[in-house]
Amino acid sequence: MHLLDVLFPKLCVSCGRWGAYICSSCQKNIVPIEQRETICPVCEKPAMMGMTHPYCRTRYGIDGLTTFFHYKGPVRNFVQQIKYKFVSDMVSTFVSIIPQSRILELTNPPAGGRSNDIVIVPVPLHPRRLRHRGFNQAEKISEFLSERTSIPVIKNILKRAKYTKPQVEKKTREERMKHMDGVFVVDKKYIQNIKGVFLVDDVCTTGATLRAAARELKKAGIPWVWGVTMAR
Ligand SMILES: [Zn+2]
Ligand SMILES: [Zn+2]
Repeated sequence: MHLLDVLFPKLCVSCGRWGAYICSSCQKNIVPIEQRETICPVCEKPAMMGMTHPYCRTRYGIDGLTTFFHYKGPVRNFVQQIKYKFVSDMVSTFVSIIPQSRILELTNPPAGGRSNDIVIVPVPLHPRRLRHRGFNQAEKISEFLSERTSIPVIKNILKRAKYTKPQVEKKTREERMKHMDGVFVVDKKYIQNIKGVFLVDDVCTTGATLRAAARELKKAGIPWVWGVTMAR
């Protein structure tokens, strides 16, 4: 046994059993999002391949959304533990459970763009929250998704200019979007030649964060922005 496994034992995120970050019996409780369950990231209603409905499209609107799992059971445990435990291996395990068929959706994106002009961009944390946590889970997920897809990650395109509290108390869609006004800024020196972005986050609850970040990327001149989250 490796010394690191003794010092930092791998425990199942769901049942706490020793040996791996997800044990074989808990792995069975992971609920993948089926093809018929994909939604439009704008209206959150069913949409083929997660593509934004034609009537939901706007000039700077997000083009689509790929989500791998339902936010419940072990997936919820993964998302919650990753935020506060700075364990790269745990993120690696989480990304490794994405079925290969879903990974192929990223390497053959629906827009038909050439994937060598497409990059992965993690949704950033505000520096204050990053200091507190020490770890941006979206960035780690991006790195492992990049390993699986061979799509490069560019981390510094997006920055958070405004500190936001969690959205729980924001009731309406308008309130949520207003709350996200001016939150993201784009560093234009990184965007030359980029034809498309996979915007990566851990969870998509209301989609407001992804829509706000996508809007800034598109305003900066990136023609295609597609959200990718582990869960919703
Ligand atoms: Zn377990
Ligand atoms: Zn829609």
